[in-house]
Amino acid sequence: MLPNMPRIGSRLDTIYQITREFSAPLDIDQVLQRFLPATVAAVGAYDASLLLFDADGKPESFLLSNSFEVQRRSRPTLEPLLEQGVIAWIKEYRQGVLIKDTYEDERWYKDDPALARSRSAIAVPIQLPEQLIGVLTITSTQSNYFDENDLAMLHIIADQAAFAIANARLFKAEQHRHRLADTLVSVARTLNSSLDLDETLTLILEQLALVVDYDSSSILLLEGDTLYVRAARGFEDMEDALRVKIPLDDIKQPNYRAILQKNPLLINDVDTEPNWIKSSSSQKVRSWIGTPLIGQDEVIGMLTVDSYEPNKYTQENVREVAAFAEQAATAVANAQAVTLLRNMEDSYTILFEDSADMIMLTDYHGQILNANRKTCQMLRRAKEALIGSNISLVDRRLKEVLIEQSKRLQAWRDVLLELDIVDAYHETISLEINARHVRYGGKDCIQWVGRDISARKESEKMRQDLINMIVHDLRGPVGNLINTIEVLPMLFDFSAEPRTKKFLELAKHSGQEVRDLIDSMLDVGRLQGGEVYLQRGMADLNEIIQAVQDQVTPRAQAKKMELIFDPLPEISEIWVDQSMIRRVLINLVDNAIKYTPSQGRISLTPTFNGETLSFAVADNGRGISQDAQARIFNKFSRVDHSSNAPAGVGLGLAFCKLAVEAHGGSIWVESEGVPGRGSTFYFTLPLLTPSEDV
Ligand code: ADP
Repeated sequence: MLPNMPRIGSRLDTIYQITREFSAPLDIDQVLQRFLPATVAAVGAYDASLLLFDADGKPESFLLSNSFEVQRRSRPTLEPLLEQGVIAWIKEYRQGVLIKDTYEDERWYKDDPALARSRSAIAVPIQLPEQLIGVLTITSTQSNYFDENDLAMLHIIADQAAFAIANARLFKAEQHRHRLADTLVSVARTLNSSLDLDETLTLILEQLALVVDYDSSSILLLEGDTLYVRAARGFEDMEDALRVKIPLDDIKQPNYRAILQKNPLLINDVDTEPNWIKSSSSQKVRSWIGTPLIGQDEVIGMLTVDSYEPNKYTQENVREVAAFAEQAATAVANAQAVTLLRNMEDSYTILFEDSADMIMLTDYHGQILNANRKTCQMLRRAKEALIGSNISLVDRRLKEVLIEQSKRLQAWRDVLLELDIVDAYHETISLEINARHVRYGGKDCIQWVGRDISARKESEKMRQDLINMIVHDLRGPVGNLINTIEVLPMLFDFSAEPRTKKFLELAKHSGQEVRDLIDSMLDVGRLQGGEVYLQRGMADLNEIIQAVQDQVTPRAQAKKMELIFDPLPEISEIWVDQSMIRRVLINLVDNAIKYTPSQGRISLTPTFNGETLSFAVADNGRGISQDAQARIFNKFSRVDHSSNAPAGVGLGLAFCKLAVEAHGGSIWVESEGVPGRGSTFYFTLPLLTPSEDV
């Protein structure tokens, strides 16, 4: 065929024209609509077609320009063209093809009716260095219509098109990203506008439609190891869709896989997925995206997107759904937290109101923020009168506690106190109050829990009175017994019967011991009650020590102990309650014997410095730990409660302390708490003369 001069001119025109077409608009559709007819016209072709691939190499669109009209063709009719014919050839060789006669050329696909009329054709790849974007084909109804120059020109056009399409795609993607970002911002705003869980879930599925096209979608929440559908949209049978639950017991199951990998999963066609379980509501589903909802690093559920069309979704869609799911998960987690908080608040309110104890909440200034029913009942004040008032209205000592103990409270440590308060009708209630720091309505507050212990105190008092009465009534008969034993040797002569004499001695000592115990119990009660009733008198120190020695020696001997009474100081007469001081000393030496193993060593050392008489009772027994030292002077406090501990009730040291303090002295213990190193009890007595005694 001869070179066709006008066509050369028109080729240049075409290239010029197309270059201009491509350089201006970024709307890809507009570019393509204009460029195909222009190409056809310029080369005098019968028609032109353009097949474009998407980023995954799948056909994205097919345009056909016939008689200056551009048509799009649906994907199914394209399938054969991709497998056979020039497009398949170009996909493989990435080169242009000049087909002079379609009848003669193997590469031409003849079965397509639209292609049957073509007698010659040129097809060129539209490509970037690393990517095939599409194939441009022009055809003519005449054979041998095109030549190598046309092929070269089409290559130039295709290269222009490649860059224009790539640019337009980038632009489109960028625009899409902007739109998506905008959508996600508005989605986040919408989703966070609700803190109600059900409402949030419904909103999520509504908003999801702005991000991805779907036929149905659902939200499943994880409870234990089962996913429960909690919201659904687009299903024909909604009830059925909402009944679906998926136990996570098979790691091949798509939902489970997505959860384990904490990544979204795309299934292009669920019909080819062996582990897909169809529920009756999801019969039509073909494409599926499942993305885990992750709140604070924990999977809380799944968001699923379904399409009835297979191969509907691209990786781009998956990324978009995943970005959306991030927003959705935050909204779900917030709504869940709020629901939980509300439930907790509800149950706290019930507990608070119905509590059998009075509960008040105040701020750190003491202003009452809330008070429960019981408080109002107990204080016989209306809630309105309490709320807003200061805690000093209840009792001014509570305000003092608040000021003194605020550091302790702020460190989340409890403050316990017993208090007699007066109600609105001037009646006294005994309360045991526990104050502690709490957070209430986002503020640092104090919760005061008060328990009415009036009844307990009353019964305690009655019990104590009863004990005192019994103990007191025992004292007389025991005294009589001792007196009788004491007079017996005066009435009868036992000098010839040493055994009887010894028994009488023993009976007398035991009687004295019982009387001492009775006296100590009575004394503890009285001294504690603040009744000062010391019966001071001029006492002979020597006599006191002798009495102590007489009483403790038999017990020391029984344990083969070395009992040392150090010499007495230069003082003989002292102004004290003789019975009490004797019993203090006996208690201390007795304890030393009790808590020291056999063959131990015990000493009693009195010293006098001119003003104060001091005693030290030392042993080399088990010792007392620092911790226990702080407690042993309390009533009924014992260190060892085991069954083989020495007998005792824990009253001795409490009595010693009260007795010594009633004399104006002090008592303490020193011990390293190491067995064998023992303990030393000290007490001091400031010595008064009868005239100084008040
Ligand atoms: P009781 O001897 O009846 O238990 P006390 O009030 O006399 O009651 O003593 C309180 C506790 O102090 C005793 O149970 C004992 O554990 C401890 N204790 C007293 N004296 C000694 C001591 N010398 N060595 C070791 N522990 C002692």
